[in-house]
Amino acid sequence: MAWEMVVGLEVHAQLRTRTKIFCGCPTAFGAEPNSQVCPVCMGLPGALPVLNRKVVDYALKVALATNCRVAPVSRFARKNYFYPDLPKGYQISQYELPILEHGWIEVADDAGSPKRIGITRIHLEEDAGKLLHPEVPGADYSLVDLNRACVPLVEIVSEPDIRSPGEASRYVKKLREILVYLGVCDGNMNEGSLRVDANISVRPAGTEAFGTRAEIKNLNSFKFLEQALRYEYERQVDLLETGGEVVQETRLFDSHRGVTVGMRSKEEAHDYRYFPDPDLLPVVIEPGWIDAVRDSLPELPDAKRARFREAYGLSAQDADLLCSSRDLADYFERVAERHGDPKAAANWVMGPVLRQLNRDEAPPLADAPVPPGRLADLLALVRDGTLSNNAAKEVFDEMWATGRPPADLVAEKGLEQITDTSALEAQVDAVLAASPDEVAAYRAGKKKLMGFFVGQVMRATRGKANPQAVNQLLRSKLEGG
Ligand SMILES: [Zn+2]
Repeated sequence: MAWEMVVGLEVHAQLRTRTKIFCGCPTAFGAEPNSQVCPVCMGLPGALPVLNRKVVDYALKVALATNCRVAPVSRFARKNYFYPDLPKGYQISQYELPILEHGWIEVADDAGSPKRIGITRIHLEEDAGKLLHPEVPGADYSLVDLNRACVPLVEIVSEPDIRSPGEASRYVKKLREILVYLGVCDGNMNEGSLRVDANISVRPAGTEAFGTRAEIKNLNSFKFLEQALRYEYERQVDLLETGGEVVQETRLFDSHRGVTVGMRSKEEAHDYRYFPDPDLLPVVIEPGWIDAVRDSLPELPDAKRARFREAYGLSAQDADLLCSSRDLADYFERVAERHGDPKAAANWVMGPVLRQLNRDEAPPLADAPVPPGRLADLLALVRDGTLSNNAAKEVFDEMWATGRPPADLVAEKGLEQITDTSALEAQVDAVLAASPDEVAAYRAGKKKLMGFFVGQVMRATRGKANPQAVNQLLRSKLEGG
């Protein structure tokens, strides 16, 4: 029998606000443990939470970019459970009335055709703290760091529309790209800014009813997401084909062994005793607020890719690469506009610029030592014949290393091409005079010798002669006289 994989994903994305969702503590990553805390995020009795307006702003941006409906009224609820990293004994989340619902984004299915993946709901919640397990021999305790407690999250819950590991990973990539473009999440999976839980079940292909699902928690890379789904699919199919049954449970992915492991039976919502949080007012969104956010929305990745193909005549592949980040796309556009030749700008940005950026410890593009205007200046020197393409690459690397403008470096290194024919004529004459046999052979029809003559002139000028000018001069001397 053929089996079909059915997957729904829950993506938790940390919002990049400066301060936490219910208090004024900073959210910066990597600070000294418990240095960014206050009575509210430590859960001290009597401390009252106040909603950060920026969090709602960000949620509205996400709504517009994922085709979600914004609830005019939503509400925070308490999700009760015990864990040492949760100081209040409950997490403030949203349950019956989430802020966003009924959206979708488009991804490619395995055959490459566009497919809509539904978004059931998106709700706001606070993050928990973090447990630190000291690496001390014999340590029988753990430590709690509450810096992350109360950092704002959105949880994006998809419909069970995903049918393969590849689709799952393209969906998360697309979502991540949108969140990063919007500037609401840094998308950094290593630091836990984006975490994925996957609900997966299998059913006989062609049937409608869902099988029993398992939830795999905390997948923090695209590779692990795909591996975990592949493994879990095989495991469930094996169980069903050998007369066993799938139990509804929460599982963990062991990335060293590439397997999922049962952790606990899956909780039902009633296990959490959700109830509205009496300390927080309902969130009321006036339509005017949504309009204001819409006006501030940046161009989204799909629209930008389409525009780059149209306006600059770029291939789909080049447009994809240049739009892989908003900074890179902006950089390219500024070079292209100033230089006027988008193809040349694209080649330079995808070549030398990306090569520098992909090096270890490269600065973010916004602080790049070669700003777009400088690169355009360099390209202008290539266009007007002052620099050969190869010399320009050398100058570019020097500009990147020193932050100096191209004209200075070209003058200092004496890299200007010699295009002035009167300056080249003496060299050409000298080369021809030194090779009488080759000249005779050329004139007798051995035209391939042109390469030899050009090479000699280039050597004599230490590579600085403009090859086109040399070609022209040689041709007129060999064939004209
Ligand atoms: Zn705080």
